[in-house]
Amino acid sequence: MARYIGPVCRLCRREGLKLFLKGERCYTEKCSFTRRSYPPGQHGQARIKLSEYALRLREKQKVRRVYGIVEKQFRRYYFDAARRKGRTGEQMLGLLESRLDNVVYRLGLASTRAEGRQITKHNHILVNGKRVNIPSYLLKAGDRVEVNEASRKMPAIAAALAQVDKRAALSWIEIDKANFGGVFKGQAVRDELNEPAIREQYVVEYYSR
Ligand code: SF4
Repeated sequence: MARYIGPVCRLCRREGLKLFLKGERCYTEKCSFTRRSYPPGQHGQARIKLSEYALRLREKQKVRRVYGIVEKQFRRYYFDAARRKGRTGEQMLGLLESRLDNVVYRLGLASTRAEGRQITKHNHILVNGKRVNIPSYLLKAGDRVEVNEASRKMPAIAAALAQVDKRAALSWIEIDKANFGGVFKGQAVRDELNEPAIREQYVVEYYSR
């Protein structure tokens, strides 16, 4: 599946808030958004009032960019969520949160979702003891995710794990640092997903136009 490979700090500047796509750098003064908190491009500093449509489009783009997913695949998550019981926006976030690359990041095995995607694709991750190298693999409640024995010395994984305590704890993620992994306990709890702030209702309204 395709992925975005362009400059990511531009995405934060376009969306008008930090999306935390670069790991540790996002927390330092080197963060591009801290230095230039206006949209990229020639007219970035022009004052433009967003239309109702543009507001919804931006929110959809923001969620898509946070999880690093291309439009075609993102639409599929939305329509899959719309078929499920419960609020569509929450169901959609639940699906995105259950992706393997996201859980690898949440467990602290990677410093960003993009890195989570990479270490998954490079065969470093086991799910319930079996190798899975599909970043979009959807985990089920109770699935155990860990780094395979041979990859535990990788500096990138060690560096990410060393930082995991700085992140807010999430009730559906059980981190087991000592064993380079943890457990995905089930559906994400909407109220705990607040960095960056997401208005999923706008995404629903965008696709239900
Ligand atoms: Fe770049 Fe800052 Fe966004 Fe991180 S938060 S990706 S450093 S602009």
